[in-house]
Formats: sequence, structure tokens, C-alpha cells
Amino acid sequence: MKLIFATHNPHKLEEISHILGDGIELLNLNDIDCHEEIPEPFNTLEENATEKTRYIREKYNMDCFADDTGLEIDALNGEPGVFSARYAVSGNDHLSLQMKFKANIEKVLLNLKDIDDRKARFRTVISLDLNKERFLFEGIVNGTIQHEETGEKGFGYDPIFRPEGFNKSFAEMSLEEKNRISHRAIAFKKLKEFLTTRL
Ligand code: IMP
Repeated sequence: MKLIFATHNPHKLEEISHILGDGIELLNLNDIDCHEEIPEPFNTLEENATEKTRYIREKYNMDCFADDTGLEIDALNGEPGVFSARYAVSGNDHLSLQMKFKANIEKVLLNLKDIDDRKARFRTVISLDLNKERFLFEGIVNGTIQHEETGEKGFGYDPIFRPEGFNKSFAEMSLEEKNRISHRAIAFKKLKEFLTTRL
């Protein structure tokens, strides 16, 4: 089975290839000469992920899937949510990825200053288009937002997110440990189980 993963990021492709295993030939957008950024114009993870698969189907007519992830904080009415990548940095596209992560974290901590309810979750949504039929898969990891950053590993909001049942942040976990429980791993395992029934 040949599937397009709607990402330009080779690291993501490698990570997901590991989860999906043999039997599925994964290609990324560069492999099919799609070099443009597919727009994410909607206000939900579901719509943005689906838009990416719709775009690939329309332009390339191939089976494909796309993911979208957000950090949803209860006390901030679900923010940053679908805007997680650009929460603090809209219009600051010249900033490095590390600077963007730092600015996003600072904004979350500032918005949660003096707020006791720190409940949050990471949510990943995958949209799959198989033979023009669409399917959605979801992975959630619940946790809390710490008062300060801990740990050096990972990316994004990892230094302030403490998954339920652990007394350390995602950024203090090895990649293997994080991948055992992460929102993305849960969603991609669901995708894998589904695809296995179709092989
Ligand atoms: P994407 O949809 O995977 O590109 O994720 C959107 C944004 O959510 C990223 O730019 C990160 O800021 C944040 N994010 C996604 N996954 C994680 C994670 O596992 N840890 C921390 N932040 C994440």
C-alpha cells in the first residue's frame, strides 16, 4: 500500500514510518513534488487535517493522511488549541523554531499566572483519505501545565506539560518514554490498526 503523509517534515515521516511498520510505503510531500505549504485556515484540528487530505486528493488523486495537533488548556477556553504553533508569534515568521517555542511557552505561563486550574491536554487528529473515503482518528493525553519549565528534551510545549500519572514534564522524558504515551502515538496506533484491516 502506498500512502502520502501530508508533511514536509522528514523527521515526522521517519517517526511515523516506525509506528506504521512494514507493508505501507510512506511518501512525504517532497516525494510527490508538492512544495507548497498546504493552508490550515480553519478553527478546528479536524477541519485543518481534513483540508490537507482534500487538497492532496484533488491535486494528486492519491491515498493520503494528515495530522494536526493542539495543546488545549481548560482555563484558557481550549487555547492555544488549533493555534498552538503560532500562539505568540503570529507575524514573527523570521523567528527560529526555538524562539517561537519559547515565546509560546512564555505566553501560556503569563496567561495562567495566578490561575490554579492547570488542566490541559494534547490532542492529535489524523484525517485519512483511502479510496476517496474519509476517516478521522484521535489521540489524547491529559495532564497539567507546570508553573515553570523543566527538562531539555522534546519540542514545543514539552517543558511545561506534565502528563497525568507522572511527576515530570514531557521534556524530561526520553523519546521512547514519551512515544509510549503521547497523543501522536495514540492517534497513529489507531491509524495503524485501521490500515492493518485494509492491507
Ligand atoms: P503539529 O500539528 O504537529 O505541527 O503541531 C502544532 C504545534 O503544536 C507545534 O508547533 C507545537 O507547538 C505543538 N505540539 C505538537 N505536538 C507537540 C508535542 O508533542 N509536544 C509539545 N508541543 C507539541
